[in-house]
Amino acid sequence: MGSRQVSQSWQGMRITVAGLGVSGVSAARALAGLGAVVTVVDGGDSAAHHERAAELARHGVSVRLGDADTLPEGTGLVVTSPGWKPDSPLFAAAAEAGVDVVGDVEIAWRLRDLDGREPAPWLAVTGTNGKTTTTQMLASILRAAGLRTAAVGNIGTPIVDVVLGEETYDVLAVELSSYQLHWAPSLRAHSAAVLNLAPDHLDWHGSMEAYAADKGRIYEGNTVACVYNAADPVTEALVREADVEEGCRAIGFTLGTPGPSQLGVVEGILVDRAFVANRQKNAQELAEVADVTPAAPHNIANALAAAALARAFGVEPRAVRDGLRAFTPDAHRIAHVADVDSVAYVDDSKATNTHAAEASLASYDSIVWIAGGLAKGASFDELVRRSAERLRGVVLIGAERHLIAEALARHAPEVPVVDLDRTDTGAMSAAVREAAGLAKPGDTVLLAPACASMDMFTNYNKRGEAFAEAVRELAAERA
Ligand code: ADP
Repeated sequence: MGSRQVSQSWQGMRITVAGLGVSGVSAARALAGLGAVVTVVDGGDSAAHHERAAELARHGVSVRLGDADTLPEGTGLVVTSPGWKPDSPLFAAAAEAGVDVVGDVEIAWRLRDLDGREPAPWLAVTGTNGKTTTTQMLASILRAAGLRTAAVGNIGTPIVDVVLGEETYDVLAVELSSYQLHWAPSLRAHSAAVLNLAPDHLDWHGSMEAYAADKGRIYEGNTVACVYNAADPVTEALVREADVEEGCRAIGFTLGTPGPSQLGVVEGILVDRAFVANRQKNAQELAEVADVTPAAPHNIANALAAAALARAFGVEPRAVRDGLRAFTPDAHRIAHVADVDSVAYVDDSKATNTHAAEASLASYDSIVWIAGGLAKGASFDELVRRSAERLRGVVLIGAERHLIAEALARHAPEVPVVDLDRTDTGAMSAAVREAAGLAKPGDTVLLAPACASMDMFTNYNKRGEAFAEAVRELAAERA
């Protein structure tokens, strides 16, 4: 940031940053670097907190530990971290004092033209599931088109650091969570996509309506395209409700044959009937279904959404194909671990809610399903009803597995269920063994827990690693 002009508006401003996590630390350092007087508040008081506080002190940032509820004297702006609930006492105190609360994405948006250069436009992605995958596919396509880009937002380098960094970009692929959207009132993307909407994080947002409204904020002020999922009418309704720039188009994606202004699939080919001349008659071939990894239906939908955003930005068809071919998904997202005794073992630990698990289960014909963990208030009836016919058997682990057991008893009473009644870390190894016992050659043993992992593991990565480890042990024994 050395040679950049410092905007007067940040100089001397008293900013309170809520939360000493990755985004909080990044925002605090950046804002202090611009001359703001920054205090980070965090309810924690551990040795790790003190270590981070000491590091921030070197950058001129004060840290107040052990009290996350009261607003420091003189605060002019609060910058919150994504995890903080809107009803946190600190925000009530801010509202009382007439002080705005914003998130790191809002800060990045406000800082993006700080150095007077034309800022890179943002192509934004949200949805209950598929955000990371789609954003990475989009970045891959943009790179294949020769554009300087990065996948940022809810992934990778904190977005404030990217915006203020030395690197110059032509365009950014931005993944946005509902939390980030909630706290980013002035964000205006070039084009944006809402991939799907299913109940998730309702404990944070308070209701499905509030959750959908926060997701829908991504379309506000779009200039070229609002991309929606034709199979998910709520996403289309959000486009209709959005206040967009004159001339901005609604573009649908579908796994079926696309209508005009849609992208879709025809005989194994991804086609564009939106960004072509004479879209009533013409369609443009973009890529083959086989160019997408994994070629599961929900992932084809992700690819179509990424393609739509790239096409809205003017990317050529060939780059869409090359970008999709070059893309490999992150770990623990339908990752094939091994085949043991003609049974495939697949790790989709990232399926942390019922909507994701349903997509995952829809990708295989005969499944031994390993599920359970923290339900986050979800109901499993729909998931079990729609997936019942694919289930060879089920192995349940984790704190709230009884909720899944009850749904199975209601909707799939004939499916054998092993209830492991365990929440210790070693339970995964036992689960894999039980699953192996239920599976027949040609089946898939699928870890798609439909739940968060924190009852048993630090995070979904650790859960996926434990599964993969157990599968490798099994494979070694059977070799
Ligand atoms: P997010 O960033 O939204 O959490 P990811 O791309 O990391 O999404 O995928 C998370 C999980 O959601 C995957 O492991 C898969 O089970 C599921 N998933 C991915 N894309 C979709 C989709 N379009 N619809 C439903 N489920 C999906």
